[in-house]
Amino acid sequence: MFIDKAVIRVKAGDGGNGAVSFHREKFVAAGGPDGGDGGKGGDIVFVGSPDMNTLIDFKYKKNFIAENGQKGGPKRCSGKGGQDLVIKVPMGTIVRDGESGQIMADISGEEPVIIAKGGNGGWGNSHFATPTRQIPRFAKPGIPGEKFDLQLELKLLADVGLVGFPNVGKSTLISVVSAAKPKIANYHFTTLTPVLGVVKVAEGKSFVMADIPGLIEGASEGIGLGHEFLRHVERCRLIVHVVDVSGSEGRDPKEDFETINRELANFNAELAAQEQIVVGNKADMASDEQVEEFRRYIEEKGLRFFRLSAATHQGVEALVQEIAEKLDRLPPIKRFEADYVPKTVDLSGADKWKFDIKVEDGVYIVEADWLVKVFGMISLDDEEDLGYFQRILRSSGIIDRLEEMGIQEGDTVSILNFEFDYIR
Ligand code: GDP
Ligand code: MG
Repeated sequence: MFIDKAVIRVKAGDGGNGAVSFHREKFVAAGGPDGGDGGKGGDIVFVGSPDMNTLIDFKYKKNFIAENGQKGGPKRCSGKGGQDLVIKVPMGTIVRDGESGQIMADISGEEPVIIAKGGNGGWGNSHFATPTRQIPRFAKPGIPGEKFDLQLELKLLADVGLVGFPNVGKSTLISVVSAAKPKIANYHFTTLTPVLGVVKVAEGKSFVMADIPGLIEGASEGIGLGHEFLRHVERCRLIVHVVDVSGSEGRDPKEDFETINRELANFNAELAAQEQIVVGNKADMASDEQVEEFRRYIEEKGLRFFRLSAATHQGVEALVQEIAEKLDRLPPIKRFEADYVPKTVDLSGADKWKFDIKVEDGVYIVEADWLVKVFGMISLDDEEDLGYFQRILRSSGIIDRLEEMGIQEGDTVSILNFEFDYIR
């Protein structure tokens, strides 16, 4: 079964908690703090696999959870980091955020892509010793890993897409020019899944051809099988439009040609504007007049026409050469850019801006669930992010509360993993 859409849920590993521990030695009553940091949670990583061509694995397995980081130990022992979870998908899989529908990545290359980041480990108490606070009895919790509902959509990577009515000889053509072996039979819709074939042109030169299951009128409205598969033509650099020039099923080749083009246009205007080569197949069954009449019709539109008999291989070589030459001049396979995901936190809900501040050893410790979310998406090394963080501290009322509590210039404020001196 061919599956090209799936919905899954991923969760990166949580960071391990920092440890509270004190150095112990014989005859030493109380040593310094030596609690180690928690380990980082594992990431969720996507990688494209050239051996896969369907998302069927995700029909049954839908939840993916990366390992958590382990908690810190005594003697400044850091917790072990959680293992990344690598998810293999077919090349050409587009990963979308299920909530917003925004594109997070197009897995079309060799490089792995991190989709959900594991949380950082919390600091152990060894970080928090200061001259005035020698016995810090607290450590920081790990940050939760990111989690997402994801939509996966496969848009096959092929240079050339074969389109045309059912039974015109598309599968026959791809089986002649490549090693692909799709089912070929004299009835409609024998091809139920797109098939990819590598076509060798010369030593070290090749292109990928996709046999797209037959379109019929109404495909763009979901009639027949075509609509499901049209999205696989979207990335193709060139369309090879196969027509039964002999009219062996009683249809007129010109009408076939126009019908299919209308379907492409209805699905996506860009598809209709795509470069096309027109192939008059089953020429062995057609009269010369039939072929020439159709050729004139196509060439008057300024398109290239090829007379072909896929069954007897006549004209196949010339067609492959023409495709290769055209491809040399066309831009590469379309890649989808990741949408910009703005750094704002959705803080709607009852807990908006709810926070707690307690004072321990003269340190103001701010705790709030939503701050965990904020920390998950900002980097405090980034100046812009830092500005955003400061604005949020102000707008949430945290700064006002700190002042009410009597915070002084130079006092320490502690928020999750982060400590800073209060400056008015
Ligand atoms: P598709 O539905 O477009 O993939 O068509 P197929 O490749 O499955 O072919 C449909 C039927 O047409 C099969 O019986 C093929 O053997 C036959 N066929 C394909 N190409 C030719 C051709 O060039 N000449 C003749 N006579 N028959 C062909
Ligand atoms: Mg077929």
